[in-house]
This record gives sequence, structure tokens and C-alpha cells, in this order.
Amino acid sequence: MSDLTSNINEVLEDVRQAAARSGRDPAEIGIVAVTKTVPVETVRLAVSAGLLILGENRVQELTAKYPLVEGAEWHLIGHLQRNKVKYITDKVSLIHSLDSAVLAEEINRRMSSMGRVMDVLVQVNIAEDPNKYGIKANQVIDFVETAAQLQGIRIRGLMTIGPYVSDPEEIRPVFRELRKLAGNVKKMDLPGVDMRHLSMGMSNDYIVAIEEGATLVRIGSAIFGTRK
Ligand SMILES: *Cc1c(COP(=O)(O)O)cnc(C)c1O
Repeated sequence: MSDLTSNINEVLEDVRQAAARSGRDPAEIGIVAVTKTVPVETVRLAVSAGLLILGENRVQELTAKYPLVEGAEWHLIGHLQRNKVKYITDKVSLIHSLDSAVLAEEINRRMSSMGRVMDVLVQVNIAEDPNKYGIKANQVIDFVETAAQLQGIRIRGLMTIGPYVSDPEEIRPVFRELRKLAGNVKKMDLPGVDMRHLSMGMSNDYIVAIEEGATLVRIGSAIFGTRK
């Protein structure tokens, strides 16, 4: 068995077990295979192995790989500059990284002009890490209320990037906080907003994230090996 195949099997088994431990159906947890720096041939193998959601954090890499890989959907998971929105509106099914009002307006403008709607997640900077993008937790309600008025975007949930720590248990409160916030947004019951997705958990911490309610885990190195 190749490294890729055994890595994928291991991740699938971990997801299954974490779901079982928390009384969840593993089918409700989507694995976003993060393909940054991964060659196209390897990405194709991952898709053949059944990983049907691919994630890139850079627009340029996404648009380069997009025409070369069939049978999968793409998500943008990293910071999106306003002037690059136009390159991805016809390629991605979900943007995990809505992190500012100006970005919301630009996505809305592009989608509205095509008569379409983009699904987005609001990125939340739970730990208020100055090196990370995202809306501060105490501003999420206001942000969602305003963004919900834009007809060209549909808010489907929240996303966060956990702080890097060696023990994933330390991140549990961050994931819990994101879930709590999503509950608060849901209570607002805004038209065009639902909280079906919690995008949280990466290679180092996806098991904890699933235990805390993640519906999308973004996994790179645990599938494709360490990036150079
Ligand atoms: C790179 C990246 C990941 C995946 O990271 P791994 O630790 O390799 O699993 C997840 N989310 C975002 C936003 C990323 O940029």
C-alpha cells in the first residue's frame, strides 16, 4: 500500500472513531484535502481514493490546478484578496475565509452580476492572534447581520484556525467557543443564514475538532505528508 493510501485510510479511521465517540454520524463530516504544494498527479490519486473536496489557501495555486483535476469540488480556505475574487467565483463551491466587510461586498458584487450566490463561512479569530485573519468573536454577530443583507453571498457557518500547540487538547476551548458562537448566530434566525458548517481542525487537531462538532476538517500533511 502506498503512503498516500495508508495515510488516507488512517485519517478515515480516525474520523470514524472520533465521530463514534461523540455520537455523531461520520457521514456528516466532510474531509477537505488541503493540496497546497502537492503535485497534480498526487491530487488526482487522492480524488480517485475518494477525497472529493479539495482545499487551497492560495488563489494562484487553485486556478493552476483547477483545470487539471476532475471529479472534485474546490474550496478556498485561505485569506482572499479583493482583487482576486474574480478568478475563483466560477471555480469554488465554498469560501471558508470571509474575513472582512470589503471582501463580502466584492464577492457579492461579482456573484450578483452573474445572478448567482456564493456559499461562504465567516472566519473567526477566536484567540485574537494578531498574525491571523478573521473577525473577532465579539464582532461576529454584527458582522453576520450586515453581511446577511448581501444577496450574492449565503453564510453557511463559521471557520477558525486553531493556535499551533503541541498538545491538541489545548485547542479544545477554541473549538468549543466557535461552536457556541455558531449557536448564537443560529438563534438570530436571519434569512439566508444557516450554521450548517463548522470548519475547524487541521492535521494536528482534527480529532478534537470533530469531538467538538466540526463538519468540515481541513487536512493537508496528515494525508500528503510534511510540506517542504
Ligand atoms: C495548510 C492549511 C491547512 C492544512 O494544514 P495541515 O496542518 O497540513 O493539515 C488547513 N487550513 C488552512 C487554512 C491551511 O492554510
